[in-house]
Amino acid sequence: MTDTYRLKGLRQQLVRELKTKGIQDVRILQAFEEIPRHYFLDKAFAEWAYKDVPFPIEADQTISQPYTVAFQTQLLDIRKGDRVLEIGTGSGFQASVLAYIGARVYTIERQEKLFHQTKSLLEKIGFPQVRTLFGDGYEGAPRYAPYDKILITAGAQHIPQTLVEQLVPGGVMVIPLGNENEQIMKRYTKTENNTLFEESFDKFRFVPFLKGIQQVSGAPTKPVQTVNRLKVSL
Ligand code: SAH
Repeated sequence: MTDTYRLKGLRQQLVRELKTKGIQDVRILQAFEEIPRHYFLDKAFAEWAYKDVPFPIEADQTISQPYTVAFQTQLLDIRKGDRVLEIGTGSGFQASVLAYIGARVYTIERQEKLFHQTKSLLEKIGFPQVRTLFGDGYEGAPRYAPYDKILITAGAQHIPQTLVEQLVPGGVMVIPLGNENEQIMKRYTKTENNTLFEESFDKFRFVPFLKGIQQVSGAPTKPVQTVNRLKVSL
């Protein structure tokens, strides 16, 4: 993992671009300036990390566009120490931004291979405090509930009730809601009497929020070759 002055320069340029697009939270801008986003992409595509576009990663998934990450994070209005559940770990970049600005992050990924890769990446690059979980995000993570904030980073067709239950009263859920082609960014605040207050924002396009998990297929194990060394006594 190497960082260079050139890549740092590209990061500063990206931060300027995010500002012009309406991201004002200085802690979020600082996270984008400090976290080497190219660590989350294949080495060959380092420069692409600093363009404001989504990019393909492992297992047919995408690392969300920088603006989208910044926008969702801004909607969450993170306070230091907030317990945040992220659905859809993906590359781990969003989780690292949340951790950088002071959240206690729990993040779930349904693809086992991606889960393992991202877990070790986050440990290696300085975010060992992020709790990475393998499972179906529709179930949330009741073991660590309740959460102050829940962030869904895949396109959902309905509000997952189980997740609402894992929010504290006054808690906030940010979720892109719509069909597979287009979603509206929504922010729901859970009121003291368990109803949801809804706010709607721009349109986005995420990979789908799928049911169930995807395990690493049981690849046939290679037969172990045994070599019999015969001691030949002359
Ligand atoms: N937050 C990610 C972007 C995620 S792309 C980042 O910063 O890179 C959406 C991710 O959600 C994909 O990795 C996809 O596998 C995952 N996902 C989709 N449905 C899920 C579910 N039910 N539970 C957990 N993860 C899910």
